[in-house]
Amino acid sequence: MKVLEKDKYDFVETRDELLNSKSNKIWGSFAPSALAYDLDRKTTKPSEPTLAEMTNKALKTLKKDKDGFFLFVEGSKIDWAAHGNDTIGMISDTLSFDDAVNEALKFAKNDGNTMVIAVTDHGNSGITMGNVNTNSSYPETPVSAYIDPLKKAKMTVEGALSKLKPDHSNLKEVAALYGLDDLTSEESAKLTSSKNIGAEMTKMLANRANIGFTTGGHTGKTFSYTLMALQNRLD
Ligand SMILES: [Zn+2]
Repeated sequence: MKVLEKDKYDFVETRDELLNSKSNKIWGSFAPSALAYDLDRKTTKPSEPTLAEMTNKALKTLKKDKDGFFLFVEGSKIDWAAHGNDTIGMISDTLSFDDAVNEALKFAKNDGNTMVIAVTDHGNSGITMGNVNTNSSYPETPVSAYIDPLKKAKMTVEGALSKLKPDHSNLKEVAALYGLDDLTSEESAKLTSSKNIGAEMTKMLANRANIGFTTGGHTGKTFSYTLMALQNRLD
């Protein structure tokens, strides 16, 4: 903090503070650890800026430098969602990253002298459209069978679980927030007795949407192509 003050950074902690800052040196710190997933932010952390807002503000601020600039933007929680096999978190923050890239592209188009590079640094989770449910039926399975179950989700699994009461009395509502609004009695019992409710919920939603995962760890880059396909179909 002393260093930031000494070097005359404007230290901002909320979306409004960031957007209103007129400084040409800004240090934003919007959460004690990770920011909320894009899909959850309005409900759980409305004072946090979006990745696109941060990108836009960074561009507006850095462009004041006559020598040019280098800006690095990361959509970082796509990786965390993938580790948790949370399809909704992955889509949420891939779309959020896409919005940020759009800000950069708009700037570059206007500026005419800026290069934008958007890449994935690694794959994660081995996500696939199509899983053991569709071993022999993939060609006949309509797109809606993959997309409609996902569209029911209002929050990521992290966001939904943040609403879970300590006594778990609202478990049914929490599951519905994650798109699991039609639990069978077996699934209800499984969730009630589970020590890792989030892991069970992500498995149940993936099963409904015929989404497969091969791992909770890193992989090659195929995952980003699946996400792009899912995203195009959600649009
Ligand atoms: Zn990772």
